[in-house]
Amino acid sequence: MLNNDCLFCKIIKGEIPSAKVYEDDMMLVFKDIEPKAKVHLLAVPKTHFALLSEAGEEGGKYLAHIFAKIPDVARENGCENGYRLVINQGTDAGQTVRHLHVHILGGQPLEW
Ligand code: 5GP
Ligand code: ZN
Repeated sequence: MLNNDCLFCKIIKGEIPSAKVYEDDMMLVFKDIEPKAKVHLLAVPKTHFALLSEAGEEGGKYLAHIFAKIPDVARENGCENGYRLVINQGTDAGQTVRHLHVHILGGQPLEW
């Protein structure tokens, strides 16, 4: 289920443009608008939940699919030498978009 008030749901629906690099029936991967590394992609499930604590079994299926696909998507988009995955959860982590997303960062050596 998608949410009419959510930025990433609007991107999934195509109501807001994005630079897509991979899409299937369960997930979308697009370029972050404000990249924090040479390669900075966002992988999002095509169902709306903000936090891991809200995912449940159903959300978990989407996450399993996303993590199964990330290695190929990362390699095909300039992360041959490795990459970092980040999932910000809530205010203290600085989560700004309340639709769960996996940051894929790479294309260069990363500072911790
Ligand atoms: P968070 O801080 O919630 O973990 O990450 C949200 C990310 O979404 C940020 O890195 C931010 O640059 C990115 N972002 C915010 N708005 C947009 C947008 O409209 N399009 C794209 N492609 N990325 C966005
Ligand atoms: Zn959403």
